[in-house]
Amino acid sequence: MTSPEFAQAMDAQDPLAHLRSEFEIPTKAQVTSNPSLGSSPCTYLCGNSLGLLPRRSRRVITEELDEWAHRGVVGHHRHSLGRPWVEYRQQVVEKMAPLFGAKPVEVGVMNSLTVNVHLMLASFYKPTAERFKILIEAKAFPSDHYAVESQIQWHKLPQEAMLLAKPREGERTLRTEDILQLIEEQGEQVAVVMLSGVQYYTGQVFEMEKITKAAQAKGCVVGWDLAHAAGNVPVQLHDWNVDFACWCTYKYMNSGPGGIAGFFVHERYARDATQHRLTGWWAHDEKTRFEMTNEFEPNTGAAGFEISCTPVLVSASLLGSLEVFEQTSIQELRQKSELLTGYLEHLLLTHLGDKIKIMTPKEHRGAQLSVLVRTELFDQAFAALMDAGVICDERKPDCIRLAPVPLYNTFEDVWVCVEVLRKALA
Ligand SMILES: *Cc1c(COP(=O)(O)O)cnc(C)c1O
Repeated sequence: MTSPEFAQAMDAQDPLAHLRSEFEIPTKAQVTSNPSLGSSPCTYLCGNSLGLLPRRSRRVITEELDEWAHRGVVGHHRHSLGRPWVEYRQQVVEKMAPLFGAKPVEVGVMNSLTVNVHLMLASFYKPTAERFKILIEAKAFPSDHYAVESQIQWHKLPQEAMLLAKPREGERTLRTEDILQLIEEQGEQVAVVMLSGVQYYTGQVFEMEKITKAAQAKGCVVGWDLAHAAGNVPVQLHDWNVDFACWCTYKYMNSGPGGIAGFFVHERYARDATQHRLTGWWAHDEKTRFEMTNEFEPNTGAAGFEISCTPVLVSASLLGSLEVFEQTSIQELRQKSELLTGYLEHLLLTHLGDKIKIMTPKEHRGAQLSVLVRTELFDQAFAALMDAGVICDERKPDCIRLAPVPLYNTFEDVWVCVEVLRKALA
């Protein structure tokens, strides 16, 4: 399994191998700015941070630019390719919903992730004297931490309203049993549980179904930040009865830097006009929106939470990417992902077992492995990867995050990465 021939054989029998050609893979010379490395593709293991450009996204964006150039405002209602801009969201959510185990009526597109976290909390965080806390991870992604902290301050509540789930002393990842115990002990004071589906730093996948069930049994509203889960691991938001969820689309979903974000509001709120929201004209019932009556009647479902008209150019980029996802399924992608990540783990432990440690829990992980490198070797390891055109992500002082992505990475990519590390640390 350690030979390059093994990796090549795995690639030769990979049923999803053809999807790689859907992407523009940067060359080694491009990513390193070192022309002598030539025009062979780089080893891109950073799709957890920013996915690569789907060729279809370039095409769809160009088509919308042409439409704008050739028709101007007419494109809103009459579009030469059948994608009128007033209904653009519908194209996107129909393709996006299956990745989340959601119905199209439950999915929306707007803004960026953190803005949507705020908007969902504006709808779902209704603190009372008895129930006023938000449960998040102690080491949540800073944006989520700041969003929750500022929501609490905005409601003029004390810092204790932020209930932080911490790993045990000496551990880096949270145990489900500890989260459940926190919910058991303090759930009656918790208004909203908002954890990440996949932890950005450790790569841990949370047991979303169990946690949702336990928290709802205590009367909490449950929202998930799926930034690192979207397009990475299968989720069943509808069946798990999740209240709301938010995600960005530029990580495993390849919509490009700052791409438009997605969100989920469960169908049981779809026709509930009493569910509070900060709103705007786009949330108004689309059948009467243009009557401009100033009497708000929300659209059914997640569409009733979208505030502004759909940003077409960034949605076009996402649409191109979703056309690639449509050629497979999140379950098929997951199968390949487990093989790729398992192979990465095997090679790392075989060659570098005494120099590195894998932080990501084996039984609860998506594509990403968070690798702890002995601190005295860290700079050398990361520099060697970069110099060789292996693109990954460093979290100083000691963590490298490696994410082989089933849509475009190969087993050979994994082999090359570990080979570079092996030589650098020999
Ligand atoms: C990537 C990521 C973000 C980024 O937020 P933006 O609003 O898109 O800048 C926020 N939260 C989590 C958990 C993330 O992984």
